Amino acid sequence: MRKVLLYLLLFSLTACLTKSKKENGNTIKIVCTTSIISDWVVNIASNEMQIIPLLKTGIDPHVYKPSKRDLDILRSADVIIYHGLHLEGKIIEVLKKMEGPLIINVSQNYSQDLIIRDPSFPASIDPHVWFDLDLTRSAITTITQNLSAEYPQFKDELDSNMQAYFSQINNVAKQVKSIISSIPEGQRTVITTHDALSYFGRSFGFNVKTLQGASTVSEFGLKEITGLVDFIVDQQIPAIFLENIISPQAMISVQKGCKAKGFEVKIGPELLSDSLGDKEDQNTYTDMLLFNARTIAEYLR
Ligand SMILES: [Zn+2]
Repeated sequence: MRKVLLYLLLFSLTACLTKSKKENGNTIKIVCTTSIISDWVVNIASNEMQIIPLLKTGIDPHVYKPSKRDLDILRSADVIIYHGLHLEGKIIEVLKKMEGPLIINVSQNYSQDLIIRDPSFPASIDPHVWFDLDLTRSAITTITQNLSAEYPQFKDELDSNMQAYFSQINNVAKQVKSIISSIPEGQRTVITTHDALSYFGRSFGFNVKTLQGASTVSEFGLKEITGLVDFIVDQQIPAIFLENIISPQAMISVQKGCKAKGFEVKIGPELLSDSLGDKEDQNTYTDMLLFNARTIAEYLR
């Protein structure tokens, strides 16, 4: 009896994990871990493809654990697309066990010399690569190639959408460059909670200083806060920034610390770090780049 139950249990689990594509009808269901990948795919996909972001906007991917609802969404997918480089800490374990959907890791063709590593821990990789446009183009090309191989009937459409999207990204990159260049060189230091903007800074010419490392899991305490306060007061930095995936508490402590030393530092709006925003000028990838550049320039100029 126990054996029969075990068999039934295993059978139903396997049935869930290897759901046939036909069950979704003609629509190809593509589940993307973050709102950033989702927007890339929306821009290149065919109308026959349905794109679903797993994480809502404003959710931190570093610490996110899939809920039961997420597991159901993942199991019903034809394609699952994720960032890799350990960004989606807890989702990867689930993906490793999945059979059935085509799973695309967008980091598979990244040029390794463009990847930012912590010099004291070379194994630790900064996963916020969407702020480097060469790496973004590599990720989008990887998605397009994998979707074209799986669904060759859409290859021409995917390729042509990708080329059009690349032109749009190139245009936005020029605008971002000109906005950041409008900040006097000596004032280009962006301070946030976790280290998500190093690729953005490298690409467009500003420095980044943070309380935490490249994951929100990394710890910080009084020592880091005091160090940052001293830096801000010493350099007379006019503003620090919140992030849309992190509580404002740490930056409020930094502001109080500066005040105690007689220096008023402004707290700027939430920059979009690991997720798009909900507002109209924040809810696409290209808007994310422009919103961050404009906000940084407004507060540091
Ligand atoms: Zn992050």
